[in-house]
Amino acid sequence: MKQVQGIKGVRDVLPGESEAWRHILQKARDIFHTFGYSEIIIPVIEFTELFTRSIGETTDIVEKEMYTFDDRDGKKITLRPEGTASVVRAYIEHNLRETSPFSKLYYIGPMFRRERPQAGRYRQFYQIGAEVFGIGHSMIDAEVLSMLNLLFDSLNIKGVELQINSIGCPQCRPAFREALKGFFADKISELCENCQRRFESNPLRILDCKATHCHELAEKAPKTLDYLCSECLTHFKGLQDSLKTAGVPYVLNEGLVRGLDYYTRTTFEFVGTSLGAQNAVAAGGRYDNLVEELGGPATPAIGFSIGMERLVSLFDDSSMERPSAGIFIAALGEAAQEKAFSLLTQLHQQGIPAVMDHSGGSLKSQMRKADKLNAEHVLIIGEDELARGVVILRDMKNKTQEELPFSEIAQRLKGVRS
Ligand code: ATP
Ligand code: MG
Repeated sequence: MKQVQGIKGVRDVLPGESEAWRHILQKARDIFHTFGYSEIIIPVIEFTELFTRSIGETTDIVEKEMYTFDDRDGKKITLRPEGTASVVRAYIEHNLRETSPFSKLYYIGPMFRRERPQAGRYRQFYQIGAEVFGIGHSMIDAEVLSMLNLLFDSLNIKGVELQINSIGCPQCRPAFREALKGFFADKISELCENCQRRFESNPLRILDCKATHCHELAEKAPKTLDYLCSECLTHFKGLQDSLKTAGVPYVLNEGLVRGLDYYTRTTFEFVGTSLGAQNAVAAGGRYDNLVEELGGPATPAIGFSIGMERLVSLFDDSSMERPSAGIFIAALGEAAQEKAFSLLTQLHQQGIPAVMDHSGGSLKSQMRKADKLNAEHVLIIGEDELARGVVILRDMKNKTQEELPFSEIAQRLKGVRS
């Protein structure tokens, strides 16, 4: 029969890799809780309008990457390309501002973008993200970055550099926009098709274009930092002071504008020096106007998201504690198997990892399976052991064995495993 293949750019995370995912997600959850964040579980589908209004009509995501379809009633639905828009929608819809003076929320889950699949770029990929609502002070920007820094440290991730910039606010951005238009005015014909369009509608986007020549031109373009108003400058200086206080290393990247329209002031990326072209492992920034733009009360906010696949590729899983393969119960004959099943149930009830091969087989073949599963101990029950009310406990590492009465098994196994 013809086989059905998975979709291009959509991966399976198999055992062997999924242990690293579990480890990383656990560390992330622990650190988020340390910093006072709660988990929010957001839907995978939203009305398309949520994304076009927040991410921006002239961004790569909205122009060409969204998975959008007509629902049966004709409404336009999109598979979420990112998490912030949904978190903001939920924050407004459930009036979270009333429940807590400031909200610190994190989310974990798949995102969907129809990009060209390549290393570090998938059509379904996972993000770990967090958002803080209600604090405009630059110190929280530093706290957020310090949290990310701590997460990378705790995962022993090397070669990641934090780059920061400020892209100003609605007060100072118009002047910058004009300066950019002035700079690109006589270079329009050199820009890619998308950027030619963006020159009028959204010239800041040109700075984030991935096309080689646009990128080269952008390097010589005016810099946002030279156009900041005094409030934005104070905020940016405050952020740097607090990063020093928190001991978080960073570098300035004046060209960093990010690919979504909602950002204001602080923008940042954690860049993996070994990651090649797709080098941002985490990215984010402040978005002080988005809550209001999506119909909520004026609320300052900041957030980030981490690309899980890129984080996993930087993570050295040899440093990770391997989950134990536990106990393998080898039973010979039907009656012994029934007894083995009852023992297995008892072990599970006590939280002791244990498996058995329910199809039985010779002792030799069962021992081979135990070996393959890397079991620490094997419990062997044959007809003779069953009749005498004992099992053989074999230590697979030391190759020693002993006999144990049924009644002592659980107690003894707890001992050898702790
Ligand atoms: P890039 O510049 O790499 O396209 P972006 O600006 O589109 O990134 P964000 O939308 O800010 O990225 O997403 C945050 C993080 O999610 C990125 O830094 C990256 O680690 C990860 N990411 C984004 N798109 C993909 C993808 N298609 N596949 C895998 N990871 C991705
Ligand atoms: Mg992108």
